Amino acid sequence: MKAVVYLPVEDKTQWWVEMLQSLLPGWEVTSMDDPGDPAGVDFAVVWRPRTGDLAQFPNLRAIVSIGAGIDHVLADKELPAGVPIIRTVGTDLTQRMREYVALHVLRHHRDMPRQLQAQAEADWHAIVVPVAPNRTVGVMGLGNLGAAAAQTLAGLGFDTRGWSKSQKEIDGVTCFAGSEGLDTFLDGCEILVNLLPLTDETRGILAASLFAKLPKEACVINCARGPHLVDEDLLAALDGGQVKQATLDVFHQEPLPADHPFWNHRKITVTPHVASQIDAGTGGRLIAANLLEFAKTGTCNDVADAARGY
Ligand code: NDP
Repeated sequence: MKAVVYLPVEDKTQWWVEMLQSLLPGWEVTSMDDPGDPAGVDFAVVWRPRTGDLAQFPNLRAIVSIGAGIDHVLADKELPAGVPIIRTVGTDLTQRMREYVALHVLRHHRDMPRQLQAQAEADWHAIVVPVAPNRTVGVMGLGNLGAAAAQTLAGLGFDTRGWSKSQKEIDGVTCFAGSEGLDTFLDGCEILVNLLPLTDETRGILAASLFAKLPKEACVINCARGPHLVDEDLLAALDGGQVKQATLDVFHQEPLPADHPFWNHRKITVTPHVASQIDAGTGGRLIAANLLEFAKTGTCNDVADAARGY
């Protein structure tokens, strides 16, 4: 079996090649820059491939996304049709997202940005907030990551809601589904967490019309994909007070350009797409296991549904 590896914007290709080669004895693992005969390539392991990169391999059996989302693969307009896309998911990724969401929801819940501002001014300003059961938080997307995040928030005692495409049942979480459930989900949701996949249906969902359905001074956490958010609408909602604070982990352009207004906005916390970056060793083992399974059986648990976009 032969696999090519490619992370064009990350400059980590060679590291992944060596690590996967060590986990796949008997396989040939190479960089996509030096693939040998393209017809001999069975699998491509990629993060943000460039348009046309994958079309050069006529016999690809599957494409592996180094990450949970497959939007970066589907963005390739010349993507070979019908080749299965395997996501990289696992308890490591889920745990990291639980931690990130808990941290930032608690931070907004306890109004830490204002508390830290008071400290900077040597101001003994006690901010007393409602207890968690009197705080309504909502998670958009109830897949691997969203469901785990919602369960974590419910475990902390928050009045927790979730929204997904199809109806879910999650202990301690009030679940809403579909476009018909969205307004009720948003109504009264004081801290909103986005964990949707990026698809044609969800692109730009975090926009003025959605912010207007949240209670005034809601907080927004986007840890899914940058293009879910309409940047100008968030800035206007922050300026107008409809949104009180935002935490953003993902952006239209990454790295976020140095002159982007988000960097220095006093109501925005920026993190550099670290909410749940899989540990490379763990990720490598998951990818190697999926490749071995797929090579043997023609499928594996983590094959995404490319037609629906996630
Ligand atoms: P999943 O594919 O497991 O779940 C997606 C969820 O979103 C499902 O519950 C699905 O509903 C729901 N959904 C999809 N489309 C819609 C829609 N139009 N309306 C309502 N709900 C919808 O994804 P994961 O939980 O694994 O990951 C979510 C996203 O998180 C990834 O796509 C990626 O973009 C992002 N991510 C960010 C990371 C970071 O570090 N910032 C790290 C890893 C991932 P249903 O179940 O009914 O199909």
